[in-house]
Amino acid sequence: MRFTEIIGNEALKESLVKMVQGNRLGHAILFTEESGGGAFAFALALAQYVNCRDRKPEDSCGVCNSCHKYQKLIHPDLHFVFPVSSSNSLSESEKKGPISDYFLQPFRELALANPYFTEQQLYDAIGIENKSGLISVNEAKRIFEKLSLRAAEGAWKTMIIFLPEKMNAEAANKLLKLLEEPPQGTLFLLVSHNPERLLPTIRSRCQPIALQPLSREQRRQLEGDSDDQADYREIANSLLAAGLAKKIIDLFPQCEMLADLGREKQREWCLFMENYVRKIYLVARGLDSLADLSGQEETSVRDFAAKVKPSFYEKAFAALEDALSAIGSNVNPKLTFCDLGNRLLLAL
Ligand SMILES: [Zn+2]
Repeated sequence: MRFTEIIGNEALKESLVKMVQGNRLGHAILFTEESGGGAFAFALALAQYVNCRDRKPEDSCGVCNSCHKYQKLIHPDLHFVFPVSSSNSLSESEKKGPISDYFLQPFRELALANPYFTEQQLYDAIGIENKSGLISVNEAKRIFEKLSLRAAEGAWKTMIIFLPEKMNAEAANKLLKLLEEPPQGTLFLLVSHNPERLLPTIRSRCQPIALQPLSREQRRQLEGDSDDQADYREIANSLLAAGLAKKIIDLFPQCEMLADLGREKQREWCLFMENYVRKIYLVARGLDSLADLSGQEETSVRDFAAKVKPSFYEKAFAALEDALSAIGSNVNPKLTFCDLGNRLLLAL
């Protein structure tokens, strides 16, 4: 990963590069971000930069032997730690003490396809789905073993720890020892969503770097989301929130907005909404991996899945199908969408 490939936080790219050039980089950095904000991508780009054989003033070269391996995430001095749990894909002995190394293949595939992955996307990718991951003392022991070896190829051994706040106390104390007396030539890159859950002694050993959240525009750029999709989602979210709160007064502006769209967009929105309701249903049933949630919709879909009644889905689909056929028959759009809004509110 090169810095130029990362969306957002432009000033940070420059300051990280300058820190490396000026030898001001500490041995441990704690990146903090909102989930999906790109801190993992920054950790990768920084790890690649410090080990690049032909560093440029603004970025790694992207073509040297080291960059080549970093870009495939297969450099022998690049290590990953992330929260894991037992999974059916593991052998009986592995199940007794799961560690990140057992899940490296799906982890690499996820990180290469989407370095902005969220915690849930990680769990889906490594097949632990509904279980919450943990960084155990077994993992901390493995970190010790790995870092006690000399760097295989690079000048720096780079250890990226995704969500260090998932360490249990025993693991955290072991990591603290490493941070207090870091093995020579080791760079720890921690990516946290809840830094306040880390031991204060771990935090104080790290150089803190907080990422700015991505703007709506940057998120769209990232997800290849069209303006329409983002707008449709916003209307869907407002409509469902107003329905759940039983606030007709907040519901009508959304219905009017829909009524003012052209017929084709009205139809598209209804289809979008059907798919959105389907995703909420799947998440409510614990079938998250089938829902294929994007980072942008994850929080709201999960929130709705926890709140809507089990009878909502069938009623919502019937109301949306009726709206679609009303659009096709040229019924007055204000009537169509007021009726739809009311029916959704009653069903929620
Ligand atoms: Zn290079």
